[in-house]
Amino acid sequence: MLVTELLKLAPSPEQGRALLATMRACNAAATRAAEVAFAHRTANKIALQRLVYAELRHEFGLSAQMTVRSIAKACEAYKRDKTIKPVFRELGAVAYDPRILTWKGSEAVSLLTVSGRVVVPVLYRGRWLQSAGATLRGQADLVYRDGVFFLAVVVEVPEPSRQEEPQGWLGVDLGIVNLATDSTGEPYSGKGVRAVRRRNARLRAKLQAKGTKSAKRLLKRRRRKESRFARNVNHVIAKKLVGKAKDTRQGIALEDLQGIRDRVTVRKAQRADLHSWGFHQLRTFVTYKAALAGVVVRLVDPRNTSRTCPGCGHIDKRNRPTRDEFCCVSCGLAGQADHIAAINIGRRAVRHAADDAA
Ligand SMILES: [Zn+2]
Repeated sequence: MLVTELLKLAPSPEQGRALLATMRACNAAATRAAEVAFAHRTANKIALQRLVYAELRHEFGLSAQMTVRSIAKACEAYKRDKTIKPVFRELGAVAYDPRILTWKGSEAVSLLTVSGRVVVPVLYRGRWLQSAGATLRGQADLVYRDGVFFLAVVVEVPEPSRQEEPQGWLGVDLGIVNLATDSTGEPYSGKGVRAVRRRNARLRAKLQAKGTKSAKRLLKRRRRKESRFARNVNHVIAKKLVGKAKDTRQGIALEDLQGIRDRVTVRKAQRADLHSWGFHQLRTFVTYKAALAGVVVRLVDPRNTSRTCPGCGHIDKRNRPTRDEFCCVSCGLAGQADHIAAINIGRRAVRHAADDAA
C-alpha cells in the first residue's frame, strides 16, 4: 500500500534561498501558463507548451523539466474548473520528478534549483521509509511551511499477510471527552487537544480583534500548529489501539462514522470540536495502521450503541441519564457511557462475523 510521508529538509541558508527562488519561479511560471491556458481556452499540455514554453524558460530562468512541470500544473488546475483563471500561491508546493531530484544515499537529496543543483541534508527520514521492504516512489513535492522545507514523498509499503479470523473484537467508541474508549474500558484522552484548542481560541479572538497583517500571519501559523498537534494525537491513539488489537489477536470494531454526528448529543461549545477535526482523521489513521499491521477492521451499525444494555439487551434512552453515565433502567447495570458503547460496538462486530460465515 502507498503512504505519504513528510521528510524534513535541512538546507543551508544559501540553499534555502535557492529553493525559495525556485518555488517562486515555478509558481509564477505556472500562474503565467494558466493565464495563457485561460485566454486560449486550452487545457491541452502540448498545445500550451507550444504557446508558452519559450517565454517561461526565458522569463523565469527555469530548466526544461521545470518549465514542462509548471505548464502541467497550470493545465491540471485549469482542467478542474475552466470558469476560473488559476493563480498559484507564491510558495505553493513544487513537484520534483526523478529528472530533477536524485537521492544521495539516504541522508541527502539533490534538488535542481534556479541556481543549479543543491545537495540538501534530510533531517528526518520518516517512519515508513525505514520499515522493512519500503520503497520510495519516483515523484516528490517540495513543500515550504512555517519556515521549514519538507519533501512530501510517496512510499510503497508491503502489505502484511492478513490476520486470520480475529479471536475477538476490540470495540472502539469515538467520543468527545475521551477521543476514544475501547471495550476493555481503556480511555484515550483528548484532554491535551482540548486545552490547546481553548488556549488558541482565546488567542485567536485577541488577534482577530487586532486585524493587522502580522496578526493574521500569526493566526495562520497557530492554526497549522494546532492541526499538527491534533494530528499527532490521533496518530498516537491509532497506534495504541492497533497495537493492542494486534497483541491480543483481536479485530477492531468501529462505528460507521456516518452515524456519529446524529448520535452524540453535545453542547454547542463541544460541537465545534466534534466537527472541526478528529473523527474522520482518527478513523483513517486506525484503518490504515490496522491494514499495515494486518489487523481486521469492521464497521458496525451505530444505532443505539449508547442506549443498549450489554447485560440484558434493554434499549432505552433513559439508560443514559447523563452524557457520561450509563445505568440500565431494566436490570440496573451501570458503567461509564463510552465504555458501555465500546462493548456494544465490539459485540456487533461478532454478530457481523457470524453473518459473514452464514
Ligand atoms: Zn440491563
